[in-house]
Amino acid sequence: MRVPFLDLGLASQELQAEISAALTRVVGSGWYVLGPEVEGFEREFAEYVGARHCVGLGNGLDAVHLALRAAGIGPGDEVIVPGNTFIATWLGVSYAGATPVPVEPDPRTYNLDPERIAAAVTARTRAVVPVHLYGQPAEMDAILEVARAHELFVLEDAAQAHGARYRGRRVGAIGDAAAWSFYPGKNLGALGDGGAVTTDDGELADRLRRLRNYGSRVKYVHEVMGFNSRLDELQAALLRAKLPHLDEWNERRRRIAALYLRELAATGLLLPHVPSCAEPVWHLFVVRTERPEELQRHLERSGIATLIHYPIPPHRQDAYRHLHLPEQTLPMSEAIHREVLSLPIGPQMSPDQVAAVVDAVQTFPR
Ligand SMILES: *Cc1c(COP(=O)(O)O)cnc(C)c1O
Repeated sequence: MRVPFLDLGLASQELQAEISAALTRVVGSGWYVLGPEVEGFEREFAEYVGARHCVGLGNGLDAVHLALRAAGIGPGDEVIVPGNTFIATWLGVSYAGATPVPVEPDPRTYNLDPERIAAAVTARTRAVVPVHLYGQPAEMDAILEVARAHELFVLEDAAQAHGARYRGRRVGAIGDAAAWSFYPGKNLGALGDGGAVTTDDGELADRLRRLRNYGSRVKYVHEVMGFNSRLDELQAALLRAKLPHLDEWNERRRRIAALYLRELAATGLLLPHVPSCAEPVWHLFVVRTERPEELQRHLERSGIATLIHYPIPPHRQDAYRHLHLPEQTLPMSEAIHREVLSLPIGPQMSPDQVAAVVDAVQTFPR
């Protein structure tokens, strides 16, 4: 049996009728950028998240970048970010002109550790970007408390956590704003690139609408030097077709995760830890071992695809050499990056495929 890491083709097949209808509607409308589909999706996604506003953007990286920019963050400012995250979190800070200041995670959840945020605050710190990594909500109450004490803007990076809940509330409406990605492989994914920011702050949303469209609110009147970063009509229509299925698809991921947690408990692998305040959506199911490459090869021999999220932490990438954060600056983040392996998990996995993964992991020699 072959088990792909994630089968996006099957997901599209499952919604073929809805996807065809969305495509036909947009193609026939003759209107392809910033129109009724984007407005409709913004309204529906804001409602889903429980935020007042949603602004559709070109991708998740732009969502991080433009949200910070709209909050007035720029050159000379420091923004606290997780040491272990996908590099886009850092790049968004850098594109705004600010400096990413990484902190080590909570060793059990791999998410931002509120106490370390307080320790990293300087006179220049203006914002903090908690990432709901792998689909598990960060410890938002404690993060907000530190942030309020230091007057920091809180931008949730929710790119991996569509539908996740923290203390019963959906992520994306807990901080001052949240950045979303609709990259195809995310829990809510378009058939191309897409992104958004959700927020309760009407003025912030207004500035984002201006920034995404050449700094313009009225055609050919440019108030600021903006960008071109718009969610397009086709992707918005596809996202509207998929959004009603998100909860069901997340539920399928939960069932697979519950099975993995139960069946792999005795394997000696370090399994994900879910605190009682968190309802994760299992964007990834990440196990930890001192021999990730061996486990990867072992599973490969059974036809099971795995990935490493992520092999090199941002501070060890050449792209961030100028920050002079050498090896062992963030030992915990580095250890996580060295030891993690993501097992296949996705709404379209068959019970046989899930069983094959369990069998193969259980036979990994200790
Ligand atoms: C995917 C992702 C992004 C960036 O999203 P794109 O749409 O690919 O630009 C940002 N942050 C995190 C944590 C992500 O996983």
